[in-house]
Amino acid sequence: MNKVTIIGSGPAGYTAAIYAARANLSPVVYAGGPAVEDAARVAGGQLMITTDVENYPGFPEAVTGPELMERFQKQAERFGTVVHMENVTGVDLSRRPYHLTTEAGARVSTETLVIATGATAKWLDVPGESSFRNRGVSACATCDGAFFKGVEVLVVGGGDTAMEEASYLAKIASKVTLLHRRDTLRASKIMQHRILSNPKISVVWNTVVEEILGNAKGMTGARVRNVKTGEVTTLSADGLFVAIGHQPNSQLFDEWLETNDAGYIKTVPGSTRTNLEGVFACGDVQDAVFRQAVTAAGTGCMAAIEAERFLVEHGR
Ligand code: NAP
Repeated sequence: MNKVTIIGSGPAGYTAAIYAARANLSPVVYAGGPAVEDAARVAGGQLMITTDVENYPGFPEAVTGPELMERFQKQAERFGTVVHMENVTGVDLSRRPYHLTTEAGARVSTETLVIATGATAKWLDVPGESSFRNRGVSACATCDGAFFKGVEVLVVGGGDTAMEEASYLAKIASKVTLLHRRDTLRASKIMQHRILSNPKISVVWNTVVEEILGNAKGMTGARVRNVKTGEVTTLSADGLFVAIGHQPNSQLFDEWLETNDAGYIKTVPGSTRTNLEGVFACGDVQDAVFRQAVTAAGTGCMAAIEAERFLVEHGR
């Protein structure tokens, strides 16, 4: 019987583990697997597909996402956290203790559960997107950018992720065209400035992708439509990077936990408590607003403290 089981190994999950381990609760983390197709299921979470992290406090010279996550994991393990590199595939939250089933078929009982499963990149859902995935279409420039050396690529989105993808790709590709569905970017001013002042990046405003085109060798371009004029044009490119936001990874808990319309797990304001006692949610799976590594870490800390208090109150 675990006292604290943590599902997820991004900043929220590992911070919960650090605090729970230092409180002598012997936490067990299910960290996710090595699959790279789906960032949400990769151990370490979304920072594993991020390049430089410049806004995590304590790293004035910046740190790469994977290095930061390696440090989180080491720190959690230093205090006795047990980390399993596998996914949880089933949960039974009908009564306490709660039960989980893992990919490897293990059945785990736990007094408290900390859900830190994060969020996954969204796709455009247009013709050609899935057939050309990994043959031109990607949602991760740091994973796949190297395949596009010296060729032209498209990036879709107007948020910080799209800016980050475009600047990363501008170092590799011959030309980057950013396609955004409106005429203003959602991204932070500093990131916008980097994009708009980069001579290798051009922005096509008010434009959506209608179809991804290609042949047996892979993607060759995209058919796009200007939403203001209705004009349809074809842009040639060898790659297209989708960077349009994320979906919270809460599906596993749908039957048991209350979520909002977008699928984010509902927590009591100012807390990580969910509608089930002893179940806490932290990080991006419950945060549609801030979605930062540092806010995820903060809520991970809250979840561990709340789990500890819960165990004390219940005499465990
Ligand atoms: P986001 O801020 O939600 O931006 C998503 C973008 O994609 C928006 O510009 C949106 O357009 C567009 N979009 C959404 N659905 C679309 C569709 N079906 N077709 C075309 N365009 C679509 O997501 P994000 O960029 O992933 O950022 C998420 C959070 O992480 C933000 O809080 C961001 O600040 C943070 N973040 C920070 C950093 C950093 O600081 N280093 C890096 C990455 C992300 P509209 O603008 O029209 O809605």
